Amino acid sequence: MMAQYLEIKADHADALLFYRMGDFYEMFFDDAVAAAQALDIALTKRGKYNGADIPMCGVPHHSAEGYFLTLIRKGFRVAVCEQMESPAEARKRGSKAVVRREVVRLVTPGTLTEDALLEARRHNFLAAFCTVRDEHALAWADISTGAFHVMPLTRLRLGPELARLAPSELIVIDRDEAEVSETASDLGIPVTPLARSSFDSTAAEKRLCALFSVTTLDAFGNFGRAEVSAMGALIDYLEITQRGKLPLLRTPQREAVNRVVQIDVATRRNLELTRSLTGARAGSLLAVIDRTLTPGGARLLEQRLSSPSRALDVIHARLASVDFAVEHSRFATDLREILRKTPDLDRALSRLSLDRGGPRDLAAIRNGLEQGTNIVEISAAEKLPDLLAEAMRGLTGFDDLSTLLDSALVAEPPLLARDGGFIAQGYDAELDDSRTLRDEGRSVIAGLQQQYIEQTGIASLKIRHNNVLGYFIETTATHAQKMQSPPLSETFIHRQTTANQVRFTTVELSELETRILNAGNRALEIEKRLYERLKAAVLDCAAQISQAARALAEIDLTTALADLALAENWCRPQVDDSRAFAITGGRHPVVEHSLRQQSGAPFIANDCDLSADSGAAIWLLTGPNMAGKSTFLRQNALIAVLAQMGSHVPAESAHIGVISQLFSRVGASDDLARGRSTFMVEMVETAAILNQADDRALVILDEIGRGTATYDGLSIAWATLEHLHETNRSRALFATHYHELTALAGKLEGVDNATVAVKEWQGEVIFLHEVRKGAADRSYGVQVAQLAGLPASVVERARVVLEALEQGEREGGPAQKAMIDDLPLFSVAPPPPPVKASPLTAMLEQIHPDELSPREALDLVYQLKAAA
Ligand code: ADP
Repeated sequence: MMAQYLEIKADHADALLFYRMGDFYEMFFDDAVAAAQALDIALTKRGKYNGADIPMCGVPHHSAEGYFLTLIRKGFRVAVCEQMESPAEARKRGSKAVVRREVVRLVTPGTLTEDALLEARRHNFLAAFCTVRDEHALAWADISTGAFHVMPLTRLRLGPELARLAPSELIVIDRDEAEVSETASDLGIPVTPLARSSFDSTAAEKRLCALFSVTTLDAFGNFGRAEVSAMGALIDYLEITQRGKLPLLRTPQREAVNRVVQIDVATRRNLELTRSLTGARAGSLLAVIDRTLTPGGARLLEQRLSSPSRALDVIHARLASVDFAVEHSRFATDLREILRKTPDLDRALSRLSLDRGGPRDLAAIRNGLEQGTNIVEISAAEKLPDLLAEAMRGLTGFDDLSTLLDSALVAEPPLLARDGGFIAQGYDAELDDSRTLRDEGRSVIAGLQQQYIEQTGIASLKIRHNNVLGYFIETTATHAQKMQSPPLSETFIHRQTTANQVRFTTVELSELETRILNAGNRALEIEKRLYERLKAAVLDCAAQISQAARALAEIDLTTALADLALAENWCRPQVDDSRAFAITGGRHPVVEHSLRQQSGAPFIANDCDLSADSGAAIWLLTGPNMAGKSTFLRQNALIAVLAQMGSHVPAESAHIGVISQLFSRVGASDDLARGRSTFMVEMVETAAILNQADDRALVILDEIGRGTATYDGLSIAWATLEHLHETNRSRALFATHYHELTALAGKLEGVDNATVAVKEWQGEVIFLHEVRKGAADRSYGVQVAQLAGLPASVVERARVVLEALEQGEREGGPAQKAMIDDLPLFSVAPPPPPVKASPLTAMLEQIHPDELSPREALDLVYQLKAAA
């Protein structure tokens, strides 16, 4: 056995080998040591190899899924090695033959299909990046849903696209591993290197053609070599990990770079679209707006939010559907009632196709299609907008399959086919018979006993069962005589005589016995056969079912967005190809949500107008810390994202000329993890914007230049603003605490000042969170510091220094220095009064506890008490 183990292990050096032995998966040698530690399970030993103990650990096979997940999260890959025959079968080959075993699957982060291992509401993408000469391409697929996409891109776009898709695993050519790893590991994506041969474009084309049963790929699009290679590598890797069992993938869809808004990694992180800064879903825009009811709808929402569209026709079609659902809210509510009961068609289908499914997946298909039919029925009378009408078409045409599944399956089948019990009564006569025999064996026997009593006239005749004889007929010795003589002896065959009893059998009884004993097994076999047949029927319709799944997701997303719009009072944005950016009464959905939860304080809505024809495409925003500058900046970016994904937006009105690129930067964010100085990061990111932003970009800069000395920072902010205005000509919001910059508004046409208003009241600052035209008069830093709980003496001292500095500034440069020199060195606050020593304190000072005995200590307590 060890020889077999080592041979299999040699082929899977980079994975932990889960070696099936009976009811356990066992691991040996280094695998055992690593797994025991990672899983926190006991490490034992078994036998010897080259004279040394063999370390071993194991997990029960029925709970292996949970262990897979832990191991994958910790960066391992798992090779699952199963027994391909029973020990009895092996023995037939020879008394010492080892049970044949094979690796049936490699478990990797990008190739999971089990519900328990997947997040229902997220895609699980496997991506492949490939370079052929100067061409680059990224392909990605989700084998749990069948989605399959590809896009050509530049090397620079790899990071942003990976951030958008957030794949669970990235495969690359081994020679590129080092180069791509940094990009991927920044995003927390594990990289799997594959040999050059996996990416060979000629082999790739053959593989793809075979997979989709076509003679040329041209049917799907005009792909470049790099694209074909990336797709081919993906399929190759699936073949390796799934051991030849290929999942159902939809035909590859090419995604054009210029169909979606370009959002780079930093912007995505900064705007917290689908993940908050901590990396969690909670606190992100996605978490706040998600009202979808099905996993498919939730996945579609995340996808749309990650990739807002740039195509006006797409945006308008989506908006029209949401509008319709808002206007027909009763109808939408009815749809949502049905969606609530709709299972995940995509993932059930994928498991069935990989032979990892069960009766419950068949039932999921049945239920999903049935709810689809219900949706079509209640929609029949409505005049639907295009997108919804198309979705309805995707839900029809399943009559035959539905009828089949309906008649064949019980209402709530068990998880595993091998347990049986999922085929409905009345579907298959042979199965019904077998089950009757199995379940009602006893009453069938009782019926037979009655028949024999009547036949023999022996009222005390019994049919009994024991393990040695099985079923037998028993009479007392007195009656036996009669049964052993004709005509009864023709039917009753003698088996055994005991002290008081004589036992018989009949041909009928032994047949019945075999039938009863086999009935259970036969029922199971019939069910397994029927399962295969139903599965095949489902897979025959795979393409239509996956279409239906997409239709359900679209309906779910549309009605969820409508529900959100109604509940939160959002408006339909006007999106066109103008250069407008006019928001009235805009709000930040996440901040608004958390204010409501925390303090119940209202969110103050604000206008923003960066339209070219309004005269100002750039707003320079000043105002104290905590006034709401960042919130205002981000809310406008989020409104743009929401509008272009086809959602209503949190505003009273919004007019947006379509945006092609979105940039958002926060000055001097900490990026110590990547080992660059914060200021360096800030400048690298700003450079990226200034080099890339075009006149369709929306740029949001928050406190750029903050990370360096005042005059450096001011100069950089100044020059950046000028460049954005003159060269990039983007629509931009620029928040700064450099009041000096506000002077630029007067000089540059198209730059306007705005400020977030605050009120000073009795020396304290009150935040109004209102954005107004004009510049802030001062920064109120000292007041904000006071609010933050800085000690009163420090606040007082800061006021004095500030006053001196401001006075110095008014009187010119050299005078300012003089003022600073003149400032008394120490705070004017009086020192705290000396504490007068009490007699008790004096006594306590004399005491050295270490030197006291318990007795002395007690005496001391008495003395202290007396002195008090
Ligand atoms: P700044 O960037 O000016 O330092 P922030 O945008 O971080 O300020 O806002 C600080 C806090 O003020 C937010 O966390 C939020 O609680 C509150 N706030 C901001 N804008 C608004 C608003 N429009 N209405 C109500 N509260 C707001």
